[in-house]
Formats: sequence, C-alpha cells, structure tokens
Amino acid sequence: MTRALDDDERAIDPQPDTGPMMAAPRCGARTRNGTSCRAPAVAGKRRCRMHGGAIGSGAPRGNQNALRSGRYTREAIAARREMNRLLREAYATLRAISEF
Ligand SMILES: [Zn+2]
Repeated sequence: MTRALDDDERAIDPQPDTGPMMAAPRCGARTRNGTSCRAPAVAGKRRCRMHGGAIGSGAPRGNQNALRSGRYTREAIAARREMNRLLREAYATLRAISEF
C-alpha cells in the first residue's frame, strides 16, 4: 500500500549524515601556504582530484620520453650492481690467495 508523502517527510534533512564522507582518506599534498591538503583522496589513490589523483594524470607506464642513454634504466643499474659485486668478489679472492 502506498500513500502520498506529507510535508514533513518531503522536507530536506537539516543535518544530513556526513559521517562516511568525513571519514574518507584525505589527500595530504602540501599546499601553497604550507599546510596539507584536506580534500578527500580519489578512490583508490592517495591524492585528491587537484593533486595528481585525477583520471589520466601522471606519466604513462613505460614512458620513454626521458630516456636518453639508458644508463639509468632498471636493467642498467642492476647490471652495474652485479658487475661491481663480481669485481669485489674477484678482488677479495685475489687478496686471499696472495696472502699465502
Ligand atoms: Zn589535494
């Protein structure tokens, strides 16, 4: 059974329940006056729509725009690190056998 809403039921709630809205994670980016941004973070992101949370913001994955020599790619850094580790090991071995 349905009936028409009376005037009281149609009135706008003077104090809407904003609890869940207020509990949303905040952006926290540093603002121009040095405080942290208190705008709600975009769902699934850590920043608000003005501070890098917007859809389509940020560099595309695998962006090649800044690649010049390739010296600082993940692979190049890992290769250098491994080579240096091998060299250290070789020198340590040489020192060890030259002591005898
Ligand atoms: Zn923000």
